[in-house]
Parts: sequence; structure tokens; C-alpha cells
Amino acid sequence: MKLTTIGCGDAFGSEGRYNTSFLLSDDQLNILVDCGASTLLRLKQLNLSPESIDVIVITHFHGDHYGGIPFLMISNKMEYQRTRPLKIIGPKGIEENVYGLQDALYPGTSKVFNEMNVSFHEYANELQEFHQFVEVKGLPVSHSPGSIPHGVQVRIKDKLFGFSGDTEWNDHLLELSKGTDLFVIECNNLNEDSPGHLSYKTIQQRQNDFQTKRLLLTHMGSEVINAKNLEIDRLYDGLEIDF
Ligand SMILES: [Zn+2]
Repeated sequence: MKLTTIGCGDAFGSEGRYNTSFLLSDDQLNILVDCGASTLLRLKQLNLSPESIDVIVITHFHGDHYGGIPFLMISNKMEYQRTRPLKIIGPKGIEENVYGLQDALYPGTSKVFNEMNVSFHEYANELQEFHQFVEVKGLPVSHSPGSIPHGVQVRIKDKLFGFSGDTEWNDHLLELSKGTDLFVIECNNLNEDSPGHLSYKTIQQRQNDFQTKRLLLTHMGSEVINAKNLEIDRLYDGLEIDF
């Protein structure tokens, strides 16, 4: 399995980094975990086909995490005439939220979901199979409540990937990390937590509590991106990791 970092920036594009999106792929499957506003552009920059995505998993309803779906949809419809199934899996309300977003950005285009065989699914707090070889679970985390914030685990075949979503410290983070081959955790700030976000200092103090083979930082502001000699590995846009 391979992780390709489509984008690992914060909501403000700090240091020119792109919005959150991770591609998990092997020779059979392509799964996006989050689909921030810049995702279509980034797939094309990385020579990855926007039509190749089988499953999209969304952590919460903020634009830097799901705002890219309408762009991906019109590309799939207009450029690729896609008919192959696509599953979009997210928190409660995923279907209504994505329909609303699609029609807000490209009025009248939400009909593409039916035309392109897109189905919507809500995850729960236990791993559940949504696609052959793909199981997903979501646990609530601490971020803007209106965004229905979750961290997720995605099992693909025998590999388990975990992602915190955007959050302050929340004990669900430890459960989300449990048994993972990779656990990606948001790290917006260097020394101080801020409302809805974690700091490197907090993560470092708890790093031995995470039950993962590899802990990686994402959603970094400028201070974290530019800090020297951090003990925990940081993602950067375009980074690929085999796991
Ligand atoms: Zn975010």
C-alpha cells in the first residue's frame, strides 16, 4: 500500500501548502482520505487521474477537507464521462452536505451524483465494510461542532491507516491510532494548542501513548513547517510512503 500526500497544509495555505488530502493506493484501489479544495489541481500536478478514485472518506465539513468534491465531480463528468461507481463516506449528513456544496459552487450540477453512480454512506464507531477490501470507522473529535468533526480509521486489505482529522486533544486519538500501520495526526501549532487544534508539544508529550507503527504530522502551520529537529516525522506535499 502507498500513501501519497496530495496536500498536508492547514486551512490558510501556510507556506504555500495545499489543502488536506491523502491518497491510499495499490494496483487495485485508489482511496482519498479527505478532499480539500485544491485536490483536483493536485491530482493533475502529480499525474494522477481524477477518474481513478474509487472511494472518498471525509473527516469533517470544512472546505480544506471536503471542498474539493465539486471540482472532482465536474471533472469526472465532463472530462471523463465517468460511470464507474464512486463511494463517498463521511459523518452524519454527508449526502445533504455534499449536494448543497455541489449546487453552491456549480448550480444545478448535483444531478451528476445520480448520473455517475455516486453513493453516499455514513460511518459509525466500528469498522464497517463499504467496498470490497475497504472498511472505515469514524470517532468524534474536538473541533468546530458544526463541521461534525471525526477522526477515521481506514482498513484496506491487511493495512490499517488512521487520521486524526482536525482536533484538540481528545482521548479518541489513542483509540484511532490503535493497531495502525500509519497514524497521521494534525499538528497546527508548535508550542501552544489553540481552539480546535493540537500543538507539537502536546503530541510529543503523548507520543509513546499512540499504538501505531509510524506517527506522522500533518495540517501544519508555518511554525511547525519551519521548526528544526523535531522528533516526529512531518509530511510534505508530494511525499510518498510505502506501508
Ligand atoms: Zn483543516
